[in-house]
Amino acid sequence: MSKPALGFIGLGNMGGPMSIRLINAGYEVFVYDRDEGALARAVSAGAKQLTSIKAVADQVETVFLSLPTPEIVDAVCLQGGGLREGSKVKQVVDLSTIGPRAAAAIAKGLLERGMVYVDSPVSGGVTGAVKGTLAVMVSCPRSNFDALDDALSVFGKTFYLGDKAGQAQTVKLANNIMSVTAVAITSEAIVMGVKAGVDPKIMLDVINAGSGRNTASADKFPRCVLPRTFDVGFAAALAYKDARLCVDEAEHIGVPMVVGSAVRELMSITLAVCGKDADFSDVVKVVESWAGVEVRG
Ligand code: NAD
Repeated sequence: MSKPALGFIGLGNMGGPMSIRLINAGYEVFVYDRDEGALARAVSAGAKQLTSIKAVADQVETVFLSLPTPEIVDAVCLQGGGLREGSKVKQVVDLSTIGPRAAAAIAKGLLERGMVYVDSPVSGGVTGAVKGTLAVMVSCPRSNFDALDDALSVFGKTFYLGDKAGQAQTVKLANNIMSVTAVAITSEAIVMGVKAGVDPKIMLDVINAGSGRNTASADKFPRCVLPRTFDVGFAAALAYKDARLCVDEAEHIGVPMVVGSAVRELMSITLAVCGKDADFSDVVKVVESWAGVEVRG
């Protein structure tokens, strides 16, 4: 059976490589991004460029989104010139992290126009997006999931979490508060070791052979902090957004998050100190500045 044509809006750190994986898997992919550089990279990999959100929604039945914030996803779906005005689109597969309440509200707005919102956030970073090893969390009507499984499997391992928009977002927020906490606490622990005179490379080797091992100690620190490249490829602003969405959601449903709240504040400080273009791994620079040392491999 021939593969359906797909739309893809948001071709950044994640959407760029994910759209290219779809092209390489044999899908015809129509793309739009407001950033010309991002568009050009996708087009050079074989994507078909369109000039607006509505043009994508007039071209294909299934549109993927990989966009930064709930406000932007809401605008792209429901505002004037958005997907809801498209003549052909039937389902919107949202790979962004936007939180369960935004997902439910957008699903409702799209349903009023006869469209299905497929809540489908992903985890595994830019490396996972390039290699196709992401965890793909999905909640939507089962029939939509079954029909999409071939395309979603191009990104990694799919998990069906239920039929309601927002269920997948809840799992994604839980995952990300743990991931952000790993970077925050690893920053504090390694800076402590350096200030006490220990080689951070040896310290990470010990921790990774021991019970402190986590995604920051095993991957982000050796790859991006020891060589001082600070290029995880996940913006500190997005990590802050995820921590904020998670603590807000926990508060909303009556779950205290003491550690999560502290981590959210550390991300807020990182943004204030390092600026809006800071990388997720820049957290360690804040702790370094407080301690007066540098973590170098
Ligand atoms: P990014 O900022 O690199 O990419 C977002 C893209 O969306 C950019 O190319 C931007 O130009 C485009 N865009 C923004 N507003 C637009 C609009 N109105 N119309 C068209 N295009 C628009 O972000 P990213 O790191 O790729 O993350 C995308 C989503 O995936 C976020 O929700 C993020 O939280 C989530 N996520 C990111 C990672 C990661 O490691 N980077 C991992 C998992 C999930």
